[in-house]
Amino acid sequence: MSADHSYQKENEFAIDSEADLIKSFRPRDQKKLILPERLRFPFRVRSYMTWKDPSGVYTYLVFKLPNWDLPRGVAFKRTASSGEPTGGLCSWCHAYGSSEEIGLLSVAISANVSTSYFVCQDLSCIEKIEETAMLAGKDPDKNIAELFYRMEKLFERISNYKPES
Ligand SMILES: [Zn+2]
Repeated sequence: MSADHSYQKENEFAIDSEADLIKSFRPRDQKKLILPERLRFPFRVRSYMTWKDPSGVYTYLVFKLPNWDLPRGVAFKRTASSGEPTGGLCSWCHAYGSSEEIGLLSVAISANVSTSYFVCQDLSCIEKIEETAMLAGKDPDKNIAELFYRMEKLFERISNYKPES
C-alpha cells in the first residue's frame, strides 16, 4: 500500500480520561454536554470524534490537529430551517443529502453571537469523503485535509473571539 491514510494517521489522538474529554469543551458548551454512554478511557480517536445527545438537539465534535497541545471540543445546536425542508450540499464534505441528513448546525460563539454551518447533521463528513473517493477510485487526502482545515477554522474562530466593546 502507498501513503494513503497518512493524513488520518497523523491526526490520531488519545483521550485519557472523562475529565480530559469534558475539559476539551468551553465552559459554555460543558453546560450542554451529554457524554456518550459506555466510554472506556483511555481511548484513541481516528481523525475526530462526534456524537449526538439523546434528544438529537446537540451534536458534539472533538478534534485535534497534530500541532495542538490538547483536543478541542464544540457543541453544535441543530437549527430548524424556516420554510420547507430542502436538504442540499454539505459545506464541509460536499455530500448531497436530504434535509434529514444535511442542515444548519449552530455554534454559540458568545452569549449573543453564534455562527452556523450547513453540514451533515451527524458530522459523518470524513466517512462520506472516504466513500466517495473509494467509489471514484480517487485519493481522499485532499478533501480530508480540506475538511480538517474547515474544522481548524471553526475552532480558531471560537477561541479567538473577542467581543466588540
Ligand atoms: Zn458533510
